[in-house]
Amino acid sequence: MDKILLMLQLQADLNEATNGENWTSGITKNSKVINWRRCIYMECAEMIDSFTWKHWKNIDQETDWNNLQVEVVDVWHFVMSLAIENYSQTLRGQVEDLAINISQSQNFKKINTSSEHFAKQDEIIQKIESIMIDTLSRGSLDLEKLISDFFDLVLMSGLNLESLYKLYMGKNILNQFRQDNGYKNGTYIKIWAGEEDNVIMKRILEQNSGIKPDALYRELTKLYLALNKS
Ligand code: MG
Ligand code: MG
Repeated sequence: MDKILLMLQLQADLNEATNGENWTSGITKNSKVINWRRCIYMECAEMIDSFTWKHWKNIDQETDWNNLQVEVVDVWHFVMSLAIENYSQTLRGQVEDLAINISQSQNFKKINTSSEHFAKQDEIIQKIESIMIDTLSRGSLDLEKLISDFFDLVLMSGLNLESLYKLYMGKNILNQFRQDNGYKNGTYIKIWAGEEDNVIMKRILEQNSGIKPDALYRELTKLYLALNKS
């Protein structure tokens, strides 16, 4: 419960900082329409690109399991955002109510485990496509089904509550870092000396277990400044 609540709160804070305090109305402070469902299925497409699914291109390339996990965390940002927006718009309650309902659901028990192994590629892709269908349907949103499918995917991607939480914290800090360094106006540099900033963030987490969010932010700043100097 505490980890879910913390992640939801961090996400709400990030959305407020990025989009303004009325973001749950579906419009940003810059008058842009927010479409969380589209965010989810587009990220799902990126996720599928972690696999060598194209029958005509780089057919011997190996699956990028690392990137798969990063994309799962990306989708989690949007699933939480959509859930918070949905709770607000349907008057079901605040972040705290959502956290309670998620942690009491049958689905939540799935990811609250210590197991960490990958499912078969085809099964993972099928699950990702289920999530795409959940968000592409035109009717009203079945939030519980979406969250249930997402938690299935978490497990299938070799993650659990603990590792999802850790990676989410990392990505949340990276997203703040991006916003503070020109992401919105397009001046931010995403590839750092040949590697995506995501990959670099994940490595910092792996090499410094128990690193605090502010220390991670400082480490990113150091590397980014060094990059810009050269
Ligand atoms: Mg990506
Ligand atoms: Mg992504």
